[in-house]
Amino acid sequence: MSETSPKLRAELEGIPTYKPGKPAAGAAAGGRVAYKLSSNENPYPPLPGVMETVAAAAGSFNRYPDMACTGLMSELADRFAVPLTHLSTGTGSVGVAQQLLQATSGPGDEVIYAWRSFEAYPIITQISGATPVQVPLTPGDVHDLDAMADAVTERTRLIFVCNPNNPTGTVVRRAELERFLDRVPRDVLVVLDEAYREFIRDPQVPDGVEIYRQRPNVCVLRTFSKAYGLAGLRVGFAIAHEPVAAALRKTAVPFGVSQLAQDAAVASLRAEDELLGRVGSLVCERTRVVEALRGQGWTVPETQANFVWLRLGERTVDFAAACEQAGVVVRPFPGEGVRVTIGETEANDIFLKTTEGFRKEL
Ligand SMILES: *Cc1c(COP(=O)(O)O)cnc(C)c1O
Repeated sequence: MSETSPKLRAELEGIPTYKPGKPAAGAAAGGRVAYKLSSNENPYPPLPGVMETVAAAAGSFNRYPDMACTGLMSELADRFAVPLTHLSTGTGSVGVAQQLLQATSGPGDEVIYAWRSFEAYPIITQISGATPVQVPLTPGDVHDLDAMADAVTERTRLIFVCNPNNPTGTVVRRAELERFLDRVPRDVLVVLDEAYREFIRDPQVPDGVEIYRQRPNVCVLRTFSKAYGLAGLRVGFAIAHEPVAAALRKTAVPFGVSQLAQDAAVASLRAEDELLGRVGSLVCERTRVVEALRGQGWTVPETQANFVWLRLGERTVDFAAACEQAGVVVRPFPGEGVRVTIGETEANDIFLKTTEGFRKEL
């Protein structure tokens, strides 16, 4: 690099770049259909009514969107029975998570999260300049909340709890979460990342919004990307008390959430019965896939999300290649395991056929 290149912040060095799930196109050899099971997307295409709404909004994209997201905000305020001042939207919940870091953390501060967990956490933490404190999952691939509470220091500013956890699908339940929150100092922000909330069927997993009501240092993140099928439109939101919600309004990228995204989110909330019906079908597929894997002899952690985690260690990359060969793209974490999204029935079948063949080779 030349001496005259622009000076960049030292914190950016060594930040891993976000690895998106591999696209399906061209993945399968010989012209077979390839399915993308690598990004936890919703496999169903947009609902016709939502498409129409977006098409109508497209007619005015020469204009800036409604910066305050008025329609969406009031819809969300009603639905969750929270004041408007406790809501903030953003460019996906990852966008909102990054704003939370900007608002709370900088060089010298510490941010705690489980590991392995959502790969955006180390990236956005390091961008803020804060120090990531990664607390290993338990041997059962669950958040170790006791160890996370033990890791709190005077420098801790923010703690992520990813529930269910990406990429393992495991959950923390009400009693253990409450116990953990009782141990966290009131001036540390705890972010409950509930990107997969709608896929949860375990009644012991708490609704983060109910926890937020009792605890001023808790912020809940939700997204339209997964259950609502709007991943490509980039819209998520936070529910948090003041002054956190106010800080989110300050750190928002002006006009970040497009009018297409805002209108699609409102239309999706109004079509929720249909969308949650699709979620129900995916949950049935999840049960089928997990039972089939266990029947084949695999150990699979209990998942409450729209994906399963297979711990494959050194065989991870080989397995991902075998999947690709068979026509499904999965998400490998080399040396650890693969995360596989619950997708179309045909795609899930191809995955299960691949695990069956692989099992025999072990
Ligand atoms: C997918 C995902 C999100 C949502 O991302 P968006 O930016 O809303 O698309 C947030 N957290 C976790 C853990 C996720 O897996």
